Amino acid sequence: MIVVLVEVSPSGEPVEVSREAVTFARSLSAAGGGVPVDVVVVGTPSGALVETMAGYGVRRVHALTGPAFEAFSGAAWASGILTVREQAGAVVVLAAGTPRGGEVMAHVAARAGVPMAANVLSFGGLSPFVVTRQVVGGAVLEEMQLSARPAVFTVAGHAVEAAPAEAPGAAEVVIETPSVADADLVARVVSTEEPEADLSGSLKSARVVVGAGRGAGSADGFEDILELTALLDASLGVSRVVTSLGWRPHHEQVGQTGSRISPDLYIPCGISGAIQHWAGCSSAKHILAINTDPEAPMVTRATHAVIGDLHEVVPAINAEIRRRRG
Ligand SMILES: Cc1cc2nc3c(=O)[nH]c(=O)nc-3n(C[C@H](O)[C@H](O)[C@H](O)COP(=O)(O)OP(=O)(O)OC[C@H]3O[C@@H](n4cnc5c(N)ncnc54)[C@H](O)[C@@H]3O)c2cc1C
Repeated sequence: MIVVLVEVSPSGEPVEVSREAVTFARSLSAAGGGVPVDVVVVGTPSGALVETMAGYGVRRVHALTGPAFEAFSGAAWASGILTVREQAGAVVVLAAGTPRGGEVMAHVAARAGVPMAANVLSFGGLSPFVVTRQVVGGAVLEEMQLSARPAVFTVAGHAVEAAPAEAPGAAEVVIETPSVADADLVARVVSTEEPEADLSGSLKSARVVVGAGRGAGSADGFEDILELTALLDASLGVSRVVTSLGWRPHHEQVGQTGSRISPDLYIPCGISGAIQHWAGCSSAKHILAINTDPEAPMVTRATHAVIGDLHEVVPAINAEIRRRRG
């Protein structure tokens, strides 16, 4: 059996990257002769979630409930997942490569005494079980053999398209109330705060992100970039230079020490594409780089590039968008 941790949005739906992880699990299941795919969620699942999981071919939805699961605790979630895994004899445990997915899978692997592979893109065979994963922010791909059981890993964002199954599953809900040791609750979320509304918006889940780097020139050099962001209904993401110079706030930073984004389209303007920035944007499906330097790493890795001064290129794009919209 394969167990997938599914994260749930505030509206009770499975988040997209978790649906991708379930889709990945299904392809593993198909390669393994159709072993069942079960999911674990925290809290009582909504009807919509159960319906979606049925559409994704899931056999059972194990719902971790009880006081230990009311607030996020990586160790408690891992303990609950391992209880499910032991009951059902799962050979593979996986999650989406989100901060929570990574934290919980690390606890699962440590408890089970097995290694964990983060940011897996694909698998190359089941015996031996070989996966390909991204390291150094996607600059390097690494093959890894997972011989220990359970095989524990996270799936990189957009490694696969989230897609329902050809045949629905039963998605039978099983309420689980595993006991959790007090020691597993020492690190847990005690309160959450909504960030101030700003142009970085929901940067991590934005479908379009406009990026800005040192090439903007100064704090006053963002006017056209902000207009483009608004015209595309996009979120704004910036390089560390921009936040270090105080041109824009830190919560807008993309990269190793900022947010990791996976939009359909990323438009980095005046960003060189240093490895620490690339670590945060390598999952973008399409990149349109605007840069004066044709040799900049961001340009050489981009799907498309415009070589030119962003202070000329961006206003021209904005004017064209406005013209087409009448
Ligand atoms: C431990 C550590 C962690 C880090 N974490 C991060 C991180 O999370 N995020 C991050 O971004 N960086 C991070 N960095 C910094 C990173 O190494 C780079 O220094 C940074 O990303 C560079 O920012 P930049 O591309 O804006 O600037 P630069 O590297 O200076 O590049 C500016 C680019 O703009 C182009 N340009 C200049 N003028 C124009 C113009 N008028 N029009 C068009 N293009 C123009 C240039 O050709 C160049 O490619 C980290 C560094 C370290 C050591």
